[in-house]
Amino acid sequence: MAETDTAPGAQQFIPPQADTLDELRAAATGCRGCELYRDASQTVFGRGDESARVVLVGEQPGDMEDQKGLPFVGPAGRLLRRAVDDAGLDPGHIYLTNAVKHFRFELRGKRRIHQTPDRVHITACRPWLVAEFARLRPEIVVVLGATAAKALLGPTFRVTRQRGELLPWPASAQHPEDFARVPVDNAGTVADALEARLLATIHPSAVLRADDQDAAYDGLVADLTVAARGLA
Ligand code: SF4
Repeated sequence: MAETDTAPGAQQFIPPQADTLDELRAAATGCRGCELYRDASQTVFGRGDESARVVLVGEQPGDMEDQKGLPFVGPAGRLLRRAVDDAGLDPGHIYLTNAVKHFRFELRGKRRIHQTPDRVHITACRPWLVAEFARLRPEIVVVLGATAAKALLGPTFRVTRQRGELLPWPASAQHPEDFARVPVDNAGTVADALEARLLATIHPSAVLRADDQDAAYDGLVADLTVAARGLA
C-alpha cells in the first residue's frame, strides 16, 4: 500500500446540510479524504442511536468490520460487548465508532494484516468524528486505545498514564472548540454542548494480544465500570 504524508482530508466530503447521523453515514460512503478507501472494501461508519448516553471511540475497522460494513463486529468487538456487559453499561445506550473509518492493512499472501493508522489518516478522518459528535449528546465518551486518544486528545496524551480517569469533556479535547457547539434544530441553530466526561482505556484488541489476557480484560472492565458509575 502506498504511503503518503499528506491527504486532502474528509471535510470536503461532509455535506454541510447533513442533519442526521444517517445522512453523514451515507455521505461517508463516498469519502476519498485519504488513500485508505482504495484498498478497503467500504467505509465503516459509527452505529448506534443519536440519543446514546455513552460514545465509544476505537481505532479503525478490522478485517471483519471491513467486510460487514459495521464497527466492532469482529473478535475485538465481541470482547468489548462482553466487557460492556460486565461493567454494567447498557448496550442500548451506546454509540460505537472509530477514529478512522477505513481498514488499513497490508497483504501477506492472502491474509490482510492490520496496520495502525498513521497520523495523516487520523487527521484526514477526524472531520467525520467531529461531525458525529455534533449530532450526539453523550454523557460519557470512552476512548479505546492510542489512535482514538490521538484523534480526540492530541499526540501527547498517554492512555497508559491516564486510563480510568474521568476527565472533563469537551474541555480535555485537543481542540475543545470543535466539540463545544452542537446544532439544536434543522434551521442551523447551535448551542453549547452539554458538559460531559471522558475516560480513556485500552482497545479491546490489546486484551486479545496481551500475555495475561485475564488481567488485561479485568483492567478494561474496571475502567468501563468507572465510566458506568459516571453516568448520572
Ligand atoms: S479513512 Fe476516513 S478520511 Fe480516509 S477515505 Fe476513509 S473515511 Fe475518508
